[in-house]
Amino acid sequence: MATLPGQLSPTPRLLLGPGPSDAHPRVLSVMSTPLLGHLDPQFLEIMTETQTMLREVFRTKNQLTFPVSATGMAGMETCLVNLIEPGDPVTVCCIGYFGTRMIDVAGRTGCNLTVKHKPWGDVFTLDELRDILKETRPKVLALVHAETSTGALQDISEVGKLCHEYDALLVTDCVTSLGCTPVELDAWEVDAAFSCSQKGLSCPPGMSPISFSPRAVDKLKSRKTKVQSWYLDLTSIQSYWGGDRAYHHTAPITMIYALREGLRLVLEEGLEARWARHVRNHKALKAGLEALGLEYIAAEAHRLPQLNAVKIPAGIDDVAGRKKLLTEFGIEIGGGLGDFKGKAWRIGIMGYNSRPICVLSVLAAMEHVLRAFGAKVTPGSGVAAAEAIYAA
Ligand SMILES: *Cc1c(COP(=O)(O)O)cnc(C)c1O
Repeated sequence: MATLPGQLSPTPRLLLGPGPSDAHPRVLSVMSTPLLGHLDPQFLEIMTETQTMLREVFRTKNQLTFPVSATGMAGMETCLVNLIEPGDPVTVCCIGYFGTRMIDVAGRTGCNLTVKHKPWGDVFTLDELRDILKETRPKVLALVHAETSTGALQDISEVGKLCHEYDALLVTDCVTSLGCTPVELDAWEVDAAFSCSQKGLSCPPGMSPISFSPRAVDKLKSRKTKVQSWYLDLTSIQSYWGGDRAYHHTAPITMIYALREGLRLVLEEGLEARWARHVRNHKALKAGLEALGLEYIAAEAHRLPQLNAVKIPAGIDDVAGRKKLLTEFGIEIGGGLGDFKGKAWRIGIMGYNSRPICVLSVLAAMEHVLRAFGAKVTPGSGVAAAEAIYAA
């Protein structure tokens, strides 16, 4: 090698996109803790503590609750491949990009798949879901709770009960909701849910918390075919995270340290206080964005506080605008996905980043960018509107 790359030292960024969000400093700090062996009694204790806290954060008593050793998509795949067998009737209700991912993952299992769509930005009503269950009679119904591509919150609080009336299991994507907005697996009768470490839990990407209800575990036990993925097969991973601690794969020790600290932070703050913090900062950001002339994609009635998806104003270039934010202000926001590519900006204020300093910084920087591209924006109007909310 002619020249060795220099010691790693990237310019710091403020990560206000759809994820990863910034890790909490306490999370980063525990990540430099020396490794333990994955069967060390001390590590087994750390695993148990992590699972106990995860159950609290998911608001569940589900025994089968642990973090899959990979990102959120692996959680999606774990839930779907373990609960679906070839030929099973399965229904995916899609409201955005991550719904299309569920269609793709479920479609690969050889199930008998039905897909129901609503326009992106919209959500399903309970009546619509009842009609879909009546018509399609699925064994598994899959839905995204917090659709990060559109900023829409799909109410699932009564969907589990409804699914059970029709003998279906409910699988929900809680990747962007966990740690930001209410998730109540037991009260909502959710059968399988998955999340990630890098959004509401303020950890780096790399872990995907999942939880299976007793109903889902029964379905798993009564399978007639092997789970199609070796790595994600819960019938064998369970023996590491469950009772006998049998080797399955080497646990990502450092990531579990991180997740343990992330969960400690959530419970220290309290779930209700954390949800309220996300709403408060969202309200300030919303006031500011609207003062800058930006319009939300999702209707106010079903809008995510932690992920603010707005339409890019006419005449402003998506890529150039985001590049200016990144290079001049060190702020990362997200562009649009799928149908919204080039048309939306997505501003995430999740977990550790749901703070006034993040809200005010991104508003000031966005105002600068919008004006640089010729938008008619009153100087200081975004920050002032947000401050008025904080002052109220
Ligand atoms: C981010 C995200 C995922 C994917 O998670 P990765 O950690 O990127 O694998 C899945 N679903 C939703 C709703 C997401 O926002």
